[in-house]
Amino acid sequence: MDSVLDFSAAPVNVGLASSAIDPEAQALALAAQYHNADAQTVLRAALSLYKGGIALVSSFGAESAALLHMVAEIDRATPVIFLDTGRLFSQTLLYRNELARRLGLTDLRTASPRQVLVQQEDPDRLLAYSNPDMCCWIRKVDPLDTALEPFSAWITGRKRHQASTRAALQYFEADAGRIKVNPLADWTSKDVADYLERHDLPPHPLVADGYPSIGCMPCTSRVAEGEDARAGRWRGKSKVECGIHVSPEKAGSGI
Ligand code: SF4
Repeated sequence: MDSVLDFSAAPVNVGLASSAIDPEAQALALAAQYHNADAQTVLRAALSLYKGGIALVSSFGAESAALLHMVAEIDRATPVIFLDTGRLFSQTLLYRNELARRLGLTDLRTASPRQVLVQQEDPDRLLAYSNPDMCCWIRKVDPLDTALEPFSAWITGRKRHQASTRAALQYFEADAGRIKVNPLADWTSKDVADYLERHDLPPHPLVADGYPSIGCMPCTSRVAEGEDARAGRWRGKSKVECGIHVSPEKAGSGI
């Protein structure tokens, strides 16, 4: 594989503030360089290039075990950030604990909303129904911003097939001054299911109960046969993304 940009001279693993190459240029070069690579190759390259400055952000949801397993196979000390919104299913918290233990993850970090904001904006815990964009900002976007402060790059489990907003997803993107890595960009749900089976990984317990995509309890419903896997997320609302993957100028359009 030909390198289109020489990163050897740039301190990309010590934070973008001191990097000689801006994140947009890094992302473009890496996306081109790894265009035809498989998920493991992309992941291995990202963990090496940004070593010490990269984290995996995982919801420990329906399909999360595949990427968590891949990361653990390469380096189980990779920081894993879990967003505990305070509105999750109890099954998700139990699944997180069991999966992290089974994979031997040694740096699991939980990001929680600022209590002062929760008490101020969502004292009766009904904000998810009246203003889900604000609820997601308090419970997801803001805590993740804080949790990502030490990192210049992060890894997500997003896939192109999941939503029209993800149709053009690249392996590497620049986002708010950081590099975002999407090793599973071209995976289908079948690819994930096959991987889980091949590696004997336990599914999230709610999958068997009709939840192929799992977020917070107030905003996740069961999906009927034939419906899109994400049809149960914010059902009845135009919102399709929580905001952590939406640039600030598009934040209003609504994982
Ligand atoms: Fe709030 Fe729903 Fe967003 Fe969770 S998914 S943070 S409950 S609006």
